[in-house]
Amino acid sequence: MTAKQQTISSNKPERTLPPVQEGLLHAGGASVKPQFDHRDENEAPEKLGRNGSSSARLLVVDDDDVDRERISRYIKKFKLPVVILDATNGSDAIKQIATEHIDLILLDYQLGDMTGAQVLGELQRREQGTIPTIMVTGMGDENTAIEAMRLGVVDYLPKKELNAETLISVLTAALKSVDLEKRLQESQENLRRMSLYDSLTGLPNRNLFFDRLDQSILSGQRKGSEFSVLMIDLNLFKGVNDSLGHAAGDYVLKVVGERLQSVARKSDTMARLGGDEFACILHDIKQREDIVLCVDKIIASISQPIAIGENVVQVGASIGVAQYPLHGSDQTTLLSNADFCMYKAKESHKHYEIYGPADAQATEKLPASQDLIKALNEKELFLEYQPKVSLNSGACIGAEVLLRWKSPKFGLVMPDGFIALAERSNLIESLTHSAVKTALEQMSVWWDQKLTVPLAFNISAKLLDNKILHIWLKDLVSSYSIDPRHITLEITETALASCSQTASTVLRELIDSGFRVSIDDFGSGFTSFKAVNSFDIAEIKIDKYFVDSVETDERVEAIVHSVVSLARRLGIFAVAEGVETAGQLEKLRELGCDVVQGYTLARPMRADDLQDWLKTFQTKIE
Ligand code: C2E
Ligand code: CA
Ligand code: CA
Repeated sequence: MTAKQQTISSNKPERTLPPVQEGLLHAGGASVKPQFDHRDENEAPEKLGRNGSSSARLLVVDDDDVDRERISRYIKKFKLPVVILDATNGSDAIKQIATEHIDLILLDYQLGDMTGAQVLGELQRREQGTIPTIMVTGMGDENTAIEAMRLGVVDYLPKKELNAETLISVLTAALKSVDLEKRLQESQENLRRMSLYDSLTGLPNRNLFFDRLDQSILSGQRKGSEFSVLMIDLNLFKGVNDSLGHAAGDYVLKVVGERLQSVARKSDTMARLGGDEFACILHDIKQREDIVLCVDKIIASISQPIAIGENVVQVGASIGVAQYPLHGSDQTTLLSNADFCMYKAKESHKHYEIYGPADAQATEKLPASQDLIKALNEKELFLEYQPKVSLNSGACIGAEVLLRWKSPKFGLVMPDGFIALAERSNLIESLTHSAVKTALEQMSVWWDQKLTVPLAFNISAKLLDNKILHIWLKDLVSSYSIDPRHITLEITETALASCSQTASTVLRELIDSGFRVSIDDFGSGFTSFKAVNSFDIAEIKIDKYFVDSVETDERVEAIVHSVVSLARRLGIFAVAEGVETAGQLEKLRELGCDVVQGYTLARPMRADDLQDWLKTFQTKIE
């Protein structure tokens, strides 16, 4: 195993998984109060004041010592959760408000040096007029009340009514509104954080990352500054999730987030874009050697072992780098160039790739996710159907649906040129949804013409991890009144072998709903027969690699023979794909293969052509 690979061993733990704290949302590492509080209406407000102190800070502004003492006594008697601060005149009050944290003001109208109204006016002028204030006055006439309200006080209390009960009820009501206001502000702040920060790692999320990238580009345009964009993808992270569970996976992401933050400079942005994908903006780095130094630091920190309970895991990373303005002067180009390099690094098992002149030519010729989005919107994708023929009856038992892309920019693109891109850019779901929908529409047109053409769809491994795949597939099929038993889902052997918990559940749901599941490219993954055993599989598709030499290589013939025997014993279909010659077809028939598919019988074709082909291709359709 190389250092890049994830290793799971049973070394002594250094750190353990943190306990799950139910009911707490984590934003930016700090715990966040739930948005709704179910405290009793009549309970005294709490959690006010600075630094987590549970009492509100009340400033009593009165020039009369006796009145101030009386107010203080009432508050203590009723055990109101407030800390009392005193001011003996207007200017003292203004000074304290400027320097202290005050939650609520009880303000006498008549002060020695100025009136309460003047104090409020001065506070407003200093933009400190937002602290809730209760005005106390000796005059008690209506005009003063109106003036007080106009100045924005929350309540008004004539001095002659200043007994313990009235004061406490006015203060309690004001404290409640202070508390409400505070909690409203807190939840707004939390919402803001949640929309900008990733809740698991506390790092900036996709939204904030794109915003920072925009800002960096703008400042680059104005000041001529340079920066680099890094796309970071963890290696073999899925293995941690699959073998140790999602809590362990989350923990690894958290640790990686912390490590990224620890190597970042203040001016850099480290973000989590989703899943095991991170990104980074490094400022003011021009030289390639300096970029390499930073990237090496990031790789070294991520690759440190992580202890999870009894296990130790090690995840590596593949990093793609694009520089502004050298490799792109807009967001899309920079990101797709960094992304391109990240996949190049991954494929060549290198830690990182920095965009270079050779890549410029390659990326110009290669479709990017934007091209695929356009293809979806502008209906540049179309389907071909390749018949599957039974060797027993000679009938066409259905067709495999294969996607094609007629691009004005790249010409005709075959699936190998865009399926992987669709998986990377999370477009595979839209792509599959649109392919399945179009094919089902076609299927019902054929149905109206008394043609039953069962269809097989290729389902990418990535899609199986979508918890609701079975729901939308079932919905689609039933919206066309099609029996799921006429639909086969081809899933590659490797996808089945490394099936996650979610994927297994989704697959079982699909099988239980009547969909047929086929193991595609069987033999190419050289994995065990475990998947055949674990799921109620309907068919095995023998990979073209074996079909190619089934006539000429005895060992291959023996393998195909054993696969066909296994299928027979399990009562499932053995289908051979990529059958190109009559000789291969005869050999497969001899070995007991049930169904064949390949150029020797028919190439993939458009729906109309399939209809014509079916008419000339003799006999019945099952
Ligand atoms: P696959 O599922 O193994 O599909 C069979 C491929 O072999 C098709 O290539 C088909 O055109 C080709 N083929 C069929 N008979 C012969 C033959 O006799 N000789 C040769 N040389 N080739 C033959 P295609 O259409 O290029 O598709 C390639 C792969 O792309 C497919 O492999 C499948 O994995 C994937 N794919 C195609 N459509 C979709 C789709 O809608 N969704 C997903 N997720 N993958 C798709
Ligand atoms: Ca297939
Ligand atoms: Ca195949």
